[in-house]
Amino acid sequence: MNGNGQSRLFWNPWLETLDPEALWAIELKNLRRLIGYAKEHSALFQERYRDIFPEDIRSLADVRRLPLIDKEDLRRAQEDREPFPYGDLLGVPLPEVTDFRQTSGTTGRPVYVPESYESWQWRIEVWCHILWMAGFRETDRVFLPFGYNVYVAFWEGHYAAEKLGCEVVPGGALDTAGRLSKIQEVRATALLNTPTYGLHLGESALNKGIDPQSLGIRRMLCAGEPLPPATRRRLEQLWGAEVYDHIGGTEPCAWAAMCRERAGLHVMEPFFLVEILDLETMTRTVEPGEMGVAVVTPLGRRSFPLIRFNTKDVVRRAESGCSCGRTSGKIEAVVGRADDLTKIRGVLFTPVTVEELVRKEFPEVVEFEILVTREGIMDEIALKVELAEAKGAAGFKEFCGPLREKLKSKTNLRFRIEQAAPGALPRYTLKAKRFKDLRKEGANG
Ligand SMILES: [Zn+2]
Repeated sequence: MNGNGQSRLFWNPWLETLDPEALWAIELKNLRRLIGYAKEHSALFQERYRDIFPEDIRSLADVRRLPLIDKEDLRRAQEDREPFPYGDLLGVPLPEVTDFRQTSGTTGRPVYVPESYESWQWRIEVWCHILWMAGFRETDRVFLPFGYNVYVAFWEGHYAAEKLGCEVVPGGALDTAGRLSKIQEVRATALLNTPTYGLHLGESALNKGIDPQSLGIRRMLCAGEPLPPATRRRLEQLWGAEVYDHIGGTEPCAWAAMCRERAGLHVMEPFFLVEILDLETMTRTVEPGEMGVAVVTPLGRRSFPLIRFNTKDVVRRAESGCSCGRTSGKIEAVVGRADDLTKIRGVLFTPVTVEELVRKEFPEVVEFEILVTREGIMDEIALKVELAEAKGAAGFKEFCGPLREKLKSKTNLRFRIEQAAPGALPRYTLKAKRFKDLRKEGANG
């Protein structure tokens, strides 16, 4: 572009300021092209879209009639199917695949995701938008305190940071102490990590007598787990850095992210067609302020064509428009996973409410776990907390009073609160599982 202030503000000034009708026109054109391509090259869509034709899709109402697809469909399309291991999901000849990725498999058999060089570059370009929007620049030295293994988000962050011109310092194969030393040694200015690990790394620094704020980290982009506002603020205070959230997954890629306003997330249009559908019927787009499930179509990938992927991520839709000047649609917040949204004693409960409360108002809690069980016909909900300094019986009782009261007013549920011994609760670096619903297991046993 012309090198003026605007080109510094945006990674792609033209694309990021198109009016919503122009964005929709690009998305519609690319959706039709994707349907045509998928029918021809992906065994999965050949079958599912036998009676659907690109030229039939003219409006959002037409899009709503296309079938949804979820992780379970993807697993089935891959199990015992050739070519190994991608099966019916593969959209290019196998020799064109250059990168193997997979989902974490926390909810069952993993999904194997094939990337051709071209499709992988599409993901990197999306991530360039995300990092640029969060203020990453060529002057940053970005440290990734993880071994990335086969998991996609940190690889995307790595390559995109490189494409922006940042210096990338990979931090795998080190323990936490080693990572802290590395941050000091290379004078890193930015981090890509999970929220849990960001907290852990900061607290480990404090325990060693190092103030994380003295380390010079200016920004942090979080991946891998939900990041409730209170956790984000706690990370910002701990590190003295700007902390950014994004949402995505291995199958669709990262499809929404925060700009420097840090108020809600921009949908990465026109790379994706994102629908936020009502929780009950999933046939209606929700209004701004309303919660819904995100259904995402990545529009530029041929190695793994995917149309209307039900992410099962529950988000709150926002009014569009933003003071940063970007014109894409926005979501206000990520509420949680549709699978975690559950009824306890008839009350709709989402674990993120507890995380938000604990992180915001009870900083002495260093780790926690929520357990739901069934005693007879009655659901019981317990919160196990691990405190920075363990308390005696009287002290703990005193601590529990206000916590129990606030839990009740936020969730409408009465919690049993238990103290876990120091170090007793698991620490997570990826995919924290702090919510355990044991009612189904109980019913079987
Ligand atoms: Zn913005």
